[in-house]
Amino acid sequence: MIVDQVKVGSFRTNCYLLKSGNDVIIVDPGDDYVTIKNHIEGYTVVAILVTHYHFDHVGALAYFKDIDVYDYRCDKKKYNLGSFSFSIIDTKGHTSDSVSFYFEDEKVLFVGDFIFKNTIGRTDLETSSFDDINKYIEIIKKYPDDIKVYPGHGHITYLGEEIKNNPFF
Ligand SMILES: [Zn+2]
Repeated sequence: MIVDQVKVGSFRTNCYLLKSGNDVIIVDPGDDYVTIKNHIEGYTVVAILVTHYHFDHVGALAYFKDIDVYDYRCDKKKYNLGSFSFSIIDTKGHTSDSVSFYFEDEKVLFVGDFIFKNTIGRTDLETSSFDDINKYIEIIKKYPDDIKVYPGHGHITYLGEEIKNNPFF
């Protein structure tokens, strides 16, 4: 699986394109359909994963009408789609609908605005909860250190780096 990182919209949100063969999964189709479209030319979109429903993460979602969306409403926690397999982890706090997507075989985790390199997502917004974000940090800390963490903004990091350096951990 190849992970392409594309910055979209005025908040420079990270949209991730997970490519395997001719298939692509879009993580957080932020507000720039044209850029996303250019990066997936020739690929078949097999799924869209939404970490949470802030506009900068889903602004282009309406353009992908016929594609299955995986988000906080999924009642199943593990999925196998073609050569992709991932699980959905509750990581509320930034919003009450925040989830992360864990690709265990590749040891990669897409966290949206749950955690960032050396900090965490805002908890002063509608449906935010600082208590929740702390609760889910305690849970995510138990995952392997060498997981690569792909956040919704800023730099890619490793879970072990955050456990060591992030003051909120
Ligand atoms: Zn957000």
